[in-house]
Amino acid sequence: MSDTQSEVLSAAQLRNWILRYADRIDENAAWLTQLDAAIGDADHGSNMVRGMQRVRVRLQEPDAARMDCVTLFRTVAMTLISNVGGAAGPLYGAFFLRASKEIAPPHVEGQEPAARVESLNSPQLAQAFHAGVDGLRQRGKVEPGEKTILDTLLPAEEALREAVDNGKPLTEAITRAREAAQKGMESTIPLEATKGRASYLGMRSIGHQDPGATSACLLITTLWEEVAAGEHARQARVALEKKDHY
Ligand code: ADP
Ligand code: MG
Repeated sequence: MSDTQSEVLSAAQLRNWILRYADRIDENAAWLTQLDAAIGDADHGSNMVRGMQRVRVRLQEPDAARMDCVTLFRTVAMTLISNVGGAAGPLYGAFFLRASKEIAPPHVEGQEPAARVESLNSPQLAQAFHAGVDGLRQRGKVEPGEKTILDTLLPAEEALREAVDNGKPLTEAITRAREAAQKGMESTIPLEATKGRASYLGMRSIGHQDPGATSACLLITTLWEEVAAGEHARQARVALEKKDHY
């Protein structure tokens, strides 16, 4: 890899990712609600909009631009946990909270504040996602195949980790995670829900895409958009620099 800069995600990029997600949630709120109307109580769109609007406001406060990765993830988690009434808020909250704990440097009581984590490299990102998915899984007492958020996030996390373990560049690893997320989301259509409100429908939940799995796919897609945008800008810069040599 010629440009190692492209191999880390800065706290600013992670913040942009979350702000992008807030925008994507707004744009897709009606769809998420429609999916939830079919197998739940038609509030997944509004729950996510409320939560992500609060996250957006918080991340646009002056101190947020200086947050490191640990504080950023923890802030997203706490904001979602305290502002989303539906099941999804505490679940996404558990994801970000556990991810935040995973990347936090060890802090010894009574000593200097822990070092700031200004960026995540590929293994750190994969580790954070792995821990986050584990946190969500425990919080929801949920297993794969129950027609939930987990059916998107688990394959995405596994694809990310596998690509990183095989030494793939960060952009490619996230591209694979996005593809796995999309497949995971679609895999919920033929499933029978056994967790959350959709489980009340039993077999009648079959044939519908899970709303939470859909908002989770948007979460991974917006990460890909953020990284792809960065990569695009980098390539454009490289092309310009090459031109300068002629
Ligand atoms: P509520 O179900 O309280 O109305 P939302 O509509 O916001 O909350 O979220 C519904 C989504 O939450 C579902 O589509 C499903 O993906 C997810 N979900 C519900 N219960 C669980 C659980 N125990 N574990 C994982 N995901 C769950
Ligand atoms: Mg609902």
